[in-house]
Amino acid sequence: MKSVDKALGFVRRVVRGMDGYVPGIQPGPGEKLVKLNTNENPYPPSPRVLEALHAAAESAVRLYPSPEATPLRERAAALYGLKPSQVICGNGSDEILAILMRTFVGEGETIAFFQPSYSLYPVLAEIGRARTTSAPLPRVSRSSEMGDIPVPSLKAKIFLLTTPNSPYGVAFPTGWVERLLDRFKGIVVADEAYVDFAAESSLPLLASHPRLVIARTLSKAYSLAGMRAGLAFAHDELIREMMKVKDSYNMSRLAQVAACAALEDQEYFRTSRDRIIATRERFSRTLGAQGFTVLPSQANFIFAVPPLGLAAGILYEGLHSRGFLVRHWKAGIVSDGLRISIGTDGEMDALMRAIEEVRRGNQ
Ligand code: PMP
Repeated sequence: MKSVDKALGFVRRVVRGMDGYVPGIQPGPGEKLVKLNTNENPYPPSPRVLEALHAAAESAVRLYPSPEATPLRERAAALYGLKPSQVICGNGSDEILAILMRTFVGEGETIAFFQPSYSLYPVLAEIGRARTTSAPLPRVSRSSEMGDIPVPSLKAKIFLLTTPNSPYGVAFPTGWVERLLDRFKGIVVADEAYVDFAAESSLPLLASHPRLVIARTLSKAYSLAGMRAGLAFAHDELIREMMKVKDSYNMSRLAQVAACAALEDQEYFRTSRDRIIATRERFSRTLGAQGFTVLPSQANFIFAVPPLGLAAGILYEGLHSRGFLVRHWKAGIVSDGLRISIGTDGEMDALMRAIEEVRRGNQ
């Protein structure tokens, strides 16, 4: 085979120089691991989703899907009290974030975010040759302290606010987001991937704040991570601009059908969400009683710092070898803790036993 070096010379320099986003490990088929590393839902989607998918898996897949995902737009708009023209649908909210970058951030312009936040943001900036600016997000011990965090004075085109934050799980109250909209002069994107597990959303601010965009996903509370379904809500004139830069048929037929059916079954959604919240609270208390520092989470995961004498990396390895996959970042400001997705009660009990085993082995 001929050397590929010459071909590689045509790759954009910025792409050659970057690492790309590193997703959490996805075990291969047959690998038996309790997967608590990428904040998926431990419960299946609504039975209505599976019925709708079976019905849609027919010869009409030869046809392109609705380019604007019109039925889903209408369903989401009705559910959230918006006009369909205020909604855009995407192939996961990752695509929504990429669309936002293409719409608002040109080469050499700046995006702002807290450190830590969703680690995709700097990667998107790199791809688009944008700059980044950030402020440290202080750790709080109670949710009520979130409102006291000073609004950072960052200058940028857009502020990407992960709320609830990942990996910390803490959420900004609506009043805080309103203050950010007051002081920050660009577009504020509330990345609400985990908001279904939280007390508040920024949605009520939308009507009076045309600089606000809200990004949502059906990957978490609606158990559709594998289907890829994301949404954004904004002023309809902003949505119109975003529509121009998306792929023409960015959501597959099946993803549109699954997302519509999932949003229709609100009763199932509430039951599944409430179970996860109850498990999260119980698991947080148990870990806290074992000497872990657990940040007050409003998401479907928790960030926990092990007690003195037990390094997060050692605990991660010990859990992995016992068949539990959680998330650990080897470097940076979050390397002292683990992000643990909330699974079923049974999974969290088994995880707790594994944590105790690792601790005993470590002493
Ligand atoms: N935003 C945040 C904060 C996330 O953690 C994730 C999930 N990794 C996403 C957006 C993207 O979710 P999806 O593409 O599955 O909708």
